[in-house]
Amino acid sequence: MDMNTRLTGVMICGAGHSGSTLLGLILGRAVGAFYVGEGAKIRYLHDLNKPLRKRACKVCGEICPVWSDFHWDQEKPLYRQVAAHTSSSIIVDSTKNPAWIKSRSDELMEAGDNPVLIFLKRDGRAVLNSRFRKYPDRDAATQIQSWMDQIEASRDLFESFTGPKIDIQYEDLATRPEAVIREICDVANIAFRPEMLAFKDGDSHPMGGNTGTQFVAARDRVEDNPDAILKLTPRTHDYYAKHSGDIRLDLRWKTEMSEPDFALFNDMAGVFNTDMAWGDDG
Ligand SMILES: [Zn+2]
Repeated sequence: MDMNTRLTGVMICGAGHSGSTLLGLILGRAVGAFYVGEGAKIRYLHDLNKPLRKRACKVCGEICPVWSDFHWDQEKPLYRQVAAHTSSSIIVDSTKNPAWIKSRSDELMEAGDNPVLIFLKRDGRAVLNSRFRKYPDRDAATQIQSWMDQIEASRDLFESFTGPKIDIQYEDLATRPEAVIREICDVANIAFRPEMLAFKDGDSHPMGGNTGTQFVAARDRVEDNPDAILKLTPRTHDYYAKHSGDIRLDLRWKTEMSEPDFALFNDMAGVFNTDMAWGDDG
């Protein structure tokens, strides 16, 4: 990318475990786009005090054609440096943290570039089920509260954001992907192409993000690679090892969530979740 090209930075906000890795992989397949994963992890590149999964490409590990020779000069806008390094003009970032997004968005505006914000929502019961599975030892009420806080903070960010923006629902993306991705492309002024929906066909180099979804997208590169950071755990193996790689709605919460967790969620967040609740049939 030369200095005269206008750069687009597509940033995803919302709560973790809402499908942002899937969305990032899809958008990263637009022509001229590069998906960084969770860009905030770029701060940890080459920092040996950080665990490998936080400081290296999740697919390649340390020997990555993209990240192994990238060094962020923090005096200069991040996305411009990544765009120059990867010869792209659209950077997609699923960090979600509002402060991080605000910083990147300010950088883009100062440089005359184009910041775009996507607020990705998902039924809170699905989000919490996924977190309970991953962090069984953490207090359930604290996790529910933390999800609500993240949604509130994302809402504030979204409302105050002055650039192009769109809010979408994960379940909508998973059930009618082409329509939703076309809507995002229109808002972001990105050209849609059908190949975007084949998210598993991309050559992805994500920093951070959801391991299961990344595994589906990079299966051929990681399955027999002893250096790969991407490994399924017994907790996630059954679901992702059999995953076809199509975009499909993940409703595991309906069968996995325990009765007490379900009751606690309804108590604390039932009303809060109303406009995000999906597939309630009375
Ligand atoms: Zn890589």
